[in-house]
Amino acid sequence: MVKTKEIKPDIRGLQLDELKALLVEAGEKPFRATQIFRWVHESAVQDWHEMKNIGEQTRHILNNIVKIEPLKIRQERISKDGTRKYLWELNDANLIETVLLSHSGDITRNRNTLCLSTQVGCAMACNFCATGTMGFSRNLGAGEILSQALDILRIRQKEDPGFKIHNLVYMGMGEPLLNLSAVLKSIRIFNSNEGQKIGIRRITVSTCGLVPQIDILAEEKLDIVLAISLHAPNNEMRDMIMPVNKQYPLEKLIPACQRYIEKTNRRITFEYALIKGMNDKEEHAQQLASLLQGLHANLNLIPINSHPNSKYKRPELVSVKYFSGLLKKKGLNVVIREEKGSDIEAACGQLAGKER
Ligand code: SF4
Repeated sequence: MVKTKEIKPDIRGLQLDELKALLVEAGEKPFRATQIFRWVHESAVQDWHEMKNIGEQTRHILNNIVKIEPLKIRQERISKDGTRKYLWELNDANLIETVLLSHSGDITRNRNTLCLSTQVGCAMACNFCATGTMGFSRNLGAGEILSQALDILRIRQKEDPGFKIHNLVYMGMGEPLLNLSAVLKSIRIFNSNEGQKIGIRRITVSTCGLVPQIDILAEEKLDIVLAISLHAPNNEMRDMIMPVNKQYPLEKLIPACQRYIEKTNRRITFEYALIKGMNDKEEHAQQLASLLQGLHANLNLIPINSHPNSKYKRPELVSVKYFSGLLKKKGLNVVIREEKGSDIEAACGQLAGKER
């Protein structure tokens, strides 16, 4: 039976067993599904005709039952530090972004990390975030999440045939836990043996702190890294910069993190953007230390990069180190991280916001 264009699923968002079921229903042999899945996810094909060992009849069947929809590239920007940012147009003309962070200059850190978007816009309205000013438009499908990686793989492999994706962070536009089913499905496909084979521990999912969704994710017992955007050591400050804190204040969020750790046996990573004169004082380090005391957690301190029009300024290195030292003395696992690609507006939502 020929399916109409609207109801044909995106092949990039189908797990192997789903593709197999569709092909068998259309009269194909089950083994074809593995061959086709490999073409889609290992070779990142964008057209049935690129599948060399697939005959004309099978291509015709594929055409009737599924669609393949590469993203339309609107911009690729390359930073001085090697970070690349891609602005994509989706089929409904909405715009999303993906960031590629590379450490290829250093052989010990030959790692490419993709920062993926999960929604068009975002409803969470964090006040330091360009995406937060756009409001929410819609969730991305699993295929659209996969497409960001597959299309970048194809673009980069033209220049560098050995290019691979090593790490994924669900930290681009949108709140991943509000699109959890598509996010989980995409993780399973990225992790699959017939796909990109990205190790589950190399996949990070970030949230601004949605307590019910953290509990739901804990039930999945995945070995992914859960990252919590904390950014403030007390409710008063967090209320001001992250509206989600009014609904899920720290006294609800931290116990949810504790439950997550107990259920999954995994450490949680807390992200804390250090902002000069706002959350970088000694008292804040003390508050942060007592908040995270006893939690099986890592803390990333990220001194923000100052932008000419931003009200937020970067703290000096000496005060960043002092802040980090105070936390280390309290027994916390602290790492200072750098924001990348500030010269190409790599922070989430900056390019899409401008284009809109
Ligand atoms: S930081 Fe993340 S959760 Fe907050 S508004 Fe931006 S995209 Fe949404």
